This record gives sequence, C-alpha cells and structure tokens, in this order.
Amino acid sequence: MHRVYIALAPGDGIGPEIMDASLALFKAAGVGDHAEFVPVDMGKSVFDTGNTKGITDEAVRTVEDCGVLFKGPMETPKGGGGKSINVTLRKLFSTYANFRVFKSLPGVQTVYSKAGIHLDFSIVRENIEDTYGGVEHRLSNDMIQCKRLISAPGCDQVHRFAFQTARQLGLKKVFCGHKANIMKMTDGLFLDRFKFAAKDFPEIETGDVIVDALCMNLVIKPQQYQMIVLPNLQGDIVSDLAAGLVGGLGFAPSANIGKHISIFEAVHGTAPDIAGKGVANPTSLILSGIMMLRHIGLLKHAAVVENALFAALETGLHTGDFGDPSLPGYKKEPATTKQFVQGIIDKLGEKPKTVPATPVPEQSTPTLNHAPRPSSQQVIRTFVNIMSHVAGCDVYLDSPLAPVALAHEMQQAAQDTPFKLTLISNRGTQVWPGGSVYTECVDYYRVRFELKDGILPGSIGQSRAIALLDKIAEKFIVCSYELLRTFDGVRGYSMAQGQ
Ligand code: NAP
Repeated sequence: MHRVYIALAPGDGIGPEIMDASLALFKAAGVGDHAEFVPVDMGKSVFDTGNTKGITDEAVRTVEDCGVLFKGPMETPKGGGGKSINVTLRKLFSTYANFRVFKSLPGVQTVYSKAGIHLDFSIVRENIEDTYGGVEHRLSNDMIQCKRLISAPGCDQVHRFAFQTARQLGLKKVFCGHKANIMKMTDGLFLDRFKFAAKDFPEIETGDVIVDALCMNLVIKPQQYQMIVLPNLQGDIVSDLAAGLVGGLGFAPSANIGKHISIFEAVHGTAPDIAGKGVANPTSLILSGIMMLRHIGLLKHAAVVENALFAALETGLHTGDFGDPSLPGYKKEPATTKQFVQGIIDKLGEKPKTVPATPVPEQSTPTLNHAPRPSSQQVIRTFVNIMSHVAGCDVYLDSPLAPVALAHEMQQAAQDTPFKLTLISNRGTQVWPGGSVYTECVDYYRVRFELKDGILPGSIGQSRAIALLDKIAEKFIVCSYELLRTFDGVRGYSMAQGQ
C-alpha cells in the first residue's frame, strides 16, 4: 500500500504537548495505516548548538525527501542575528502560498457568534517575497532601508494556487487585497497578475480591495468575503486580524503550500508562559493537521477528525483559553490538553449537530505524489523575450547637503556624459527642481539622471552609467544605484511624489 512519509518537528514551548495531542488523535483515527511520521531536528535545540539557521542539514534533506512537514511552533532567538526558523523554512522550501482558513467554531464565543453571524473564509498570503526577504541596509547615519521585492512568477504561483483552491472548494468570488494606489509598480504587479490568472478561472468572480479598506470591511461585515489573496506583509497582518474574528490564533490553521514541499503548522507561537503545564489548546495544530490530511489525500480521515472535533467542541469541551458556559457539557474547570484530545477521540465517528458536518467519503488512500528531486535550483520566469534599454540611472547618496547645492554638484558631474540631471528626491518626494521649501530632508538622496535630449534609449549601455557613478564617487558616498530601463518601450521606474 502507498505510504506517505511526513517529516515531524514538535517545536518548542507548548509545541511538544500540542503535537503529542494531535498525533494521538490522528492515530486513533487510523492515519497511521497510511502515513508515517519521521522526526527531524529544528528549532531551539538546534539554535542552542550554535547553528544559526535552526535546522540541521539532515533535517533539510529529510523534509525534501518527504515533501511534507508537520510542525509545532518554534521559538525565534531574541537578538544575536538568528532569523526566524519559521520564515526560513517557508523560504528554503519555496512554500509560496500561505493558506489560512477562518471559520466560526462551535463553543468558541466571539462577537460574531453572539450576533448569530457564521464566518467561513480564507486568506491566501504570498509567503516568500515582499519585505520578508529581510534585505536591509543602513545607508547613512539616519537612514535604514528594507527592500521590497515582488516578482511576476512569485505572484503567478500564489494567484494560481488561490484560484485552484477556490475552484476545488466551489467558492464564487476571490478578492485581491493590495495597496496598488500607492505602490503602483510592486502592488500594481501583484494586482495585474491576479487579473491575468483569473482569466483561466472564468466561473470565479473577482474583485480587488485596498488593504486598509479591507481591514475595515473585515471588522464591519466579514461574511462578505470567501477568499482574499494578499502580498506577504499585508497578508501577515490581515490574517491575524481575521484570526481575531473567529476567536484568536488558537483556532486558525495554516498551510504553507509549495510545488514540491508543503508545511503545516499552528499559527500561534510557543506560549512560553504555559509551556510544560499541560494546559495548552491544541485546536490550531489539529486543524492544520486536518489540512495536511486533505493535502496528502486522506480525505476520509480528515473528515472524521474534523467532525469529531466540532462534535466535541459543541458539547462545551474547552481548554483554559476559551469556552462557552451556555453549552450543555460545559465544565467550569477547563480540560487539560490530554483531556481535551481524549474528548475529541471519544467523538470519533460522530457528527456535529449545530454546524454542518463534513461529508465523509467511503474510504481514502494517499494521493500525494512527490515529484523527483530536481538536480539543482530552478529558475522560474514569467516574462521572456522583452526588449530592455538603458534610459538613465538613479544614484543614491549619503549627503548632508541641501538640495540646491547637491543639484549644482550633480550637474557638474554629469557634464561630458550622455546624462542630464532630471530629479532629486528625498524620502520619495521631489525636492529639485521645484518642490516646497517646507519639505524636510534627511541625509539620504535619490538623484536621477536621464538621457540627454537626442540620445535614445538603447543607444548607450550600462557602462556609461557606471562611469558616471565613478565620477560622483570621487566626492560623494554612493550607497547604491538603480539602472533605469524601458521594457518593450515602457518605463520601468516610478516617478517621485510631486513630480
Ligand atoms: P504566542 O506564543 O502565540 O503566545 C501568546 C499568548 O497566547 C500566550 O502567552 C498564551 O496566552 C496564548 N496562547 C498561544 N497559543 C496558545 C495555545 N495553543 N493555547 C493556549 N493559549 C495560547 O506568541 P508570543 O508570546 O508572541 O511568541 C512566543 C514565541 O513563539 C516567540 O519566540 C515567537 O517568535 C514564537 N512564534 C512562533 C510561531 C511559529 O512557530 N509559527 C508563530 C508566532 C510566534 P496566555 O497568557 O493567555 O496564556
């Protein structure tokens, strides 16, 4: 019989307690007949050995071989430059889509449940790009930069996953959340690729919403959404907001989906204050595990566990962090983690009565097919055969000069080059030519050079821009530069605010 191997990392803090509880439930539901869990080392114990990645090479290989990782929450080392192992894993294994489901659960009281409003929607968050590259630099005494990277193939992967999932779930409408009114190129690309992907899913209606308005809508009328796709940082924030609507992080499962490898984890952290006390709520990890069972094809097991969980919750079974005293079996004394999971095991085979039961298929066997290991990293591309031409360069300077003095120096530097000075901006606002004397400047400028009149894009190469940089660097600190290019004749750079 086809067996699936799942890499298993219990995590830190409450991780091992809630993982033991989840595995006991899955074992009782017969998951062990089809799937085997393979322990891997990652998290605090690995950081403590001085490994700054928080994961051993052996664990990386095991996760690659399994194609699925089930993990508990893991501690991020404070200070010392150690990066979040959770973010590292998502990026290392290219799990490009973070899929979270927000559903009202029986026994979990919220302002919406009290108002009789049932919530059931999901958020698909881009999981790799955006500011999460953590590409940060100090550029001057006073200025720090974080690069926000959005790629077309990165957008395509997350949007296709969202539409395919919406189709599988029979959803009618998918929204794209964004801030393309301000970040016209990065969020603009995210929105454009959403509209492009939508063309292959004509039965699904689409809409787009600016992220700030989305937050307000989610609070006022969350039931209007079925699925929302968002860039990484916006998605991170909005999905915690959404978790709050259904009772908190303890009730929001999370799947990180990639082409080859997928990671299923609880959304909350290691809750160090209650670690080791045996009182943590395992619901988020159980719900994430149910998503994992569906991912590997164990649809029957997923349905049986989900129904048992809902049936147990509607009796009033609860841990210390939630509870609804109006339910028939509610006990003032909260259940321990072990008692809680035993309460769910006791309900295996039963169906919930107050919420729709999940249909249980006759049988299920794993369908996960792990593609062969690629021999090297793959380059993913969306646009090819585009003609790009040099049109100028933006030079970024660490300088305490005022804009007019700086402009004078830059005009001199540009003499005898194919470039002319066209713009100086500070914190994105045009300060030369023109602008307002009330625009406050800091010690870091963007200086834009474009081709002199009569010189066409494509008639010079990048080396002329580098020669200009070299000249400027004789007197100024050049922090970085960006080549300005046209792509198939379209300008590939933004205008300054006020330009
Ligand atoms: P947290 O671990 O989620 O805990 C915040 C509080 O929420 C806890 O103190 C506890 O509150 C409650 N809580 C969370 N999960 C619970 C559960 N399953 N059952 C019952 N109560 C629960 O957030 P944090 O304190 O900000 O982060 C702690 C560590 O976790 C940090 O090192 C952080 O980097 C890491 N983290 C990891 C992940 C991940 O692995 N994906 C995600 C987030 C954070 P009470 O005071 O009410 O007991």
